Amino acid sequence: NLILFWHRRDLRHADNVGLAAARERSRQVVGVFCLDPGILQRDDVAPVRVTYMMGCLEALQEQYAKAGSQLLILQANPVRGVVELAIALNPKAVFFNKDVEPYSRERDRAVASALREQGIEVTAYWDQILHEPKDVITGAGNPYTVYGPFWRNWSSRQKSEPALPLQDAIGLSETEQEKAKQAGAIALPTAKDLGFIWTNPLVLEPGEAPAQKKLESFCDRAISDYSEQRDLPANQGTSQLSAALKFGAIGIRTVWAATLEVDQYAQSDEARHSIQVWRQELAWREFYQHALYAFPKLAKGPYRTPFKEFPWKNNQEQFQAWCDGRTGYPIVDAAMRQMNEAGWMHNRCRMIVASFLTKDLIINWQLGEKYFMQRLVDGDLSANNGGWQWSASSGMDPKPLRIFNPASQAKKFDPDAEYIRHWLPELKSVDTADLISGNLNPSDRDRANYPAPIVDHNQQQRRFKQLYQQQKVGG
Ligand code: FAD
Repeated sequence: NLILFWHRRDLRHADNVGLAAARERSRQVVGVFCLDPGILQRDDVAPVRVTYMMGCLEALQEQYAKAGSQLLILQANPVRGVVELAIALNPKAVFFNKDVEPYSRERDRAVASALREQGIEVTAYWDQILHEPKDVITGAGNPYTVYGPFWRNWSSRQKSEPALPLQDAIGLSETEQEKAKQAGAIALPTAKDLGFIWTNPLVLEPGEAPAQKKLESFCDRAISDYSEQRDLPANQGTSQLSAALKFGAIGIRTVWAATLEVDQYAQSDEARHSIQVWRQELAWREFYQHALYAFPKLAKGPYRTPFKEFPWKNNQEQFQAWCDGRTGYPIVDAAMRQMNEAGWMHNRCRMIVASFLTKDLIINWQLGEKYFMQRLVDGDLSANNGGWQWSASSGMDPKPLRIFNPASQAKKFDPDAEYIRHWLPELKSVDTADLISGNLNPSDRDRANYPAPIVDHNQQQRRFKQLYQQQKVGG
């Protein structure tokens, strides 16, 4: 009664809806993960992300072994790889968890229909979100395009408890293992074997145990101050769980349950408010997943008309300066260096650099979206696309233009320039006021070999607004 469980972005044995259902159906549950060249050979893959993912797979293999079974690894297009493995092992069924991305949905349809053609049962579950897209809809029965009403509906719904972990399972017999090998099962390669080199430390150690520990320490410590601390990039005021949530090293029901538990012991209204603010971030994650599911065209470009044919300037040299953290705006450059060196960037800074690219440099947000995907450990189509469309004002949210002034942002959120000095150590001895305003004196610049601002914020802001008005009238 073998059930093959196909893992994708749910790299854990605990609180995994599809895996728990597989174990409930049978004791013989064997995992499979397919390294898909269709994803790994794309030009928006970040070495840091692959490194994190391979670490999660290593940890998951250990969990399978502890539970009495195996996680098989394939390196193939899943439409071929998973189907050939299933033909070789002849399981009772193949289970997996659903995804919202257009590529994944197409892939899943193809794999499921090929398996069914072979007479193999296929069952898919919703796992990575707390509510299915069809359940959170407007009164008129449509998907939400605005976050506020989505949140009110989503947060009022009953949430499921964490699913049971995989335990007391049995794996493949020796003969079956041999068949799996012949059908393409390989030993787990490293990220380096796959051609991805990342040598800097990871923000979060990969795997379920470190993710669970991080959740616990965040709930013990920072969650109660989240609403105050979350916008200060120099402080560790956020959970840093984004990569774990992206790859499913932690289950979303577990995360939700942790917020309920900590709420019970909250000491003050401020603490309770902070917990709620953090839940709202979890809801943003889900809002963007639902949106991508309902409107797959979001992945391809702007949602709103004025941006369909926007006359972006796309100056290549300025784009490179932005990527390298050499725009001459310290808060922007510090943030880009954080991403280049740590593979992660603070949310406030993601908004600042995205606004700068689109509104100050007048560069198409899709170039920034792709660069983020090439650098982020948590790079995720729905959240990244959502964040970029929000920052560019091209997304579903009908609010008017958002233009961030880098100096005001730095003053408010990095008042002692601690974050700027950390990521731009060459500017360590420059006055705080100058680091915040970006008006460095020429001798400081020369000494640090730091560039002068590549554009003038006020001028560019006027220019952008003009272009926007023209497009609005024209569109
Ligand atoms: P916390 O503040 O602790 O939040 C908890 C979790 O909620 C996060 O781990 C994440 O899963 C989710 N979350 C928080 N804020 C958002 C948000 N605005 N949108 C969607 N989910 C959110 N997040 C990604 O996971 N992947 C991306 O590729 C990504 N790209 C972004 C690009 C831009 C331009 C912007 C403005 C935001 C982007 N975000 C992305 C959202 C957000 O910046 C990160 O989720 C957050 O910084 C991760 O840090 P954390 O885990 O400490 O977050």
